[in-house]
Amino acid sequence: AIRTSRLVRRFGEREVLREIDLTVGAGEFTALLGRSGSGKSTLLRALSGLDHGVRGSGELAVPERVSLSFQDSRLLPWLRVLDNVVLGLGGRRAEDRGREALAEVGLAGRERSWPHELSGGEQQRAALARALVREPELLLADEPFGALDALTRIKMHGLLRELYERHRPAVLLVTHDVDEAVELADRVLVLEEGRIAVDLAVDLPTPRSRRAPRFQEYRDRLL
Ligand code: ATP
Ligand code: MG
Repeated sequence: AIRTSRLVRRFGEREVLREIDLTVGAGEFTALLGRSGSGKSTLLRALSGLDHGVRGSGELAVPERVSLSFQDSRLLPWLRVLDNVVLGLGGRRAEDRGREALAEVGLAGRERSWPHELSGGEQQRAALARALVREPELLLADEPFGALDALTRIKMHGLLRELYERHRPAVLLVTHDVDEAVELADRVLVLEEGRIAVDLAVDLPTPRSRRAPRFQEYRDRLL
């Protein structure tokens, strides 16, 4: 689903991404960890195709259908929730699909609400619905659960994993929560000084549980 070779991103003199070679297969759920400022969002933007400042002697090949969910949910405040979800989609069935996606994330009945009428977690779920309705082959999610209370976070984890099992897009999830990465992803990358410093395959039984015997083992290898 993703193949980069020697992907480079500079801001002035600073080289934030240094010759990144990254391959993510179709349907693979990968988490991306790294300190604040390590370049996680920059890498996601580069992969989304929205960043025209990306350079490198290699090629950047990403699938046609990519959904990017931003670090903040970025629902447009002047559009109702359903209109946000289906924004830019054509076709007669777009609204129906939007409703289905909202129902999938537990927001049935909130189609006509304004974004500010939703709680933070509800807004993030709406953003997830907006990403899913596009039936992406690749879902790029930048800290989709930032700023959520612990309980809502746990619910969102279950929801994301469930939606993943159902639709099987490739996922690249940015987080700075090691537990979240191990719980959700089948592969965890750590970005450090512009390079992928760790690439760890996680093999845990589903449904994922933090009480699984090997959970701590994986976690410790990432700390
Ligand atoms: P966080 O966990 O805090 O979200 P991050 O890993 O996502 O951090 P990035 O947003 O990718 O970090 O930023 C990586 C570095 O690139 C930072 O030092 C940042 O200042 C710099 N940077 C990002 N975008 C720009 C820009 N448009 N112009 C200049 N510098 C930038
Ligand atoms: Mg970021």
